[in-house]
Amino acid sequence: MKQLAILGSTGSIGVSTLEIVAAHPDKFRIISLTGAKNLELLAHQIRQFRPKLAAVADPAEIPALKKLLTGVDVELAAGEEGLCAAATASGVQMVVAAIVGSAGLLPTAAAIRAGIDIALANKETLVTAGHIFMDLVENYGVRLYPVDSEHSAVFQSIEGHRCQDITRIILTASGGPFRETPIDRLKEVTVQDALNHPNWNMGRKITIDSATMMNKGLEVIEARWLFDAPPDKISVNIHPQSIIHSMVEYIDGCVIAQLGTPDMKAPIAYALSYPERVSSGVKPLDLTTLSDLSFFKPDMQRFPCLGLAYRALGEGESMPAVMNAANEVAVDAFLSGRITYLQIASLIEKTMDAHQVHRLGSIEEALEADRWGRSTAGEICKTLKTGRFI
Ligand code: NDP
Repeated sequence: MKQLAILGSTGSIGVSTLEIVAAHPDKFRIISLTGAKNLELLAHQIRQFRPKLAAVADPAEIPALKKLLTGVDVELAAGEEGLCAAATASGVQMVVAAIVGSAGLLPTAAAIRAGIDIALANKETLVTAGHIFMDLVENYGVRLYPVDSEHSAVFQSIEGHRCQDITRIILTASGGPFRETPIDRLKEVTVQDALNHPNWNMGRKITIDSATMMNKGLEVIEARWLFDAPPDKISVNIHPQSIIHSMVEYIDGCVIAQLGTPDMKAPIAYALSYPERVSSGVKPLDLTTLSDLSFFKPDMQRFPCLGLAYRALGEGESMPAVMNAANEVAVDAFLSGRITYLQIASLIEKTMDAHQVHRLGSIEEALEADRWGRSTAGEICKTLKTGRFI
């Protein structure tokens, strides 16, 4: 029986994780859950899974949550301290890190420092402070299992192989809803168009990141840290069918790929049950029904965010944190109608141009770079003209 803390249980990854837990009551037990705004769902999950502890981001939400939980025996906590308490609650053997954004960093670090293994969904952890987290993982001797489907695919494709035999990691990307949209029409796309992902059903922020391909850029940075791979050995292929989730190429010319129906429950189940496999509820793949598996190089003019991510990785230290923060501000501004789709990339680029790269020695310094990126992007955002503006 593996005892779990799920940070971000009310989100898309959190809900999928709980579906797997519910299907395997003999294998997994919930010790703690966390949420932020969706109190009804959190209360429902608490009633169903009976954790010892539940935490919310904002202490002001506690009275409302208490009201929803009349008669339920659960300890409630809040704020950064509460999230860290949930991550390190007594008995937790694995933390599923599925909070969105930089709010996920400190609870994940707290779990590592407590010697708890991590199933990592939160991309911002390694993007913002990759070298610091990988040092923590090594120093505290914990295992970090990727939840992201691409990194799970790479993880599955390198099992049993030697690092020095790898020549390339190839991350696949669907290309999102605008893969074939004429470039001159991108200035007109709406939030609804951008949320209409062809293959994956995900949270709103990551769905916009998929449309811009910033999501793939963040994954390139994550892969650099997870697999200790230099940036020039990580490439991206557009694969519109999202059947091959990523590949690893070896010195002998062989390529090992992992295939499956696009459903996050498969990589989540693998991270939870490694090295075993458990049923995930994902529909098996019928290869005979696939008429086409195609691959293209990404068009960097269409997807400038991917180039910005490689630039941030190349400049290193504080730059990825600043780029990630600027992206969060830009995506939020786009989702709330304050900037256009094309202004997402230009807002990130202007923020990066304004930043002087400096060394990051701690998570606190990474969070400081994140705050700088956020406030600078916020200021630049106010200067952007909205409407049909490139
Ligand atoms: P969602 O937006 O669906 O869920 C985010 C979760 O984080 C929710 O539980 C939310 O609570 C909680 N949350 C939001 N803000 C805060 C905060 N300030 N403090 C504490 N908790 C907070 O995101 P996803 O599940 O889609 O993604 C989660 C992470 O996993 C992201 O980093 C994403 O990049 C990554 N990921 C997601 C994939 C996917 O398919 N969705 C695939 C691979 C990686 P509430 O809902 O109650 O407000």
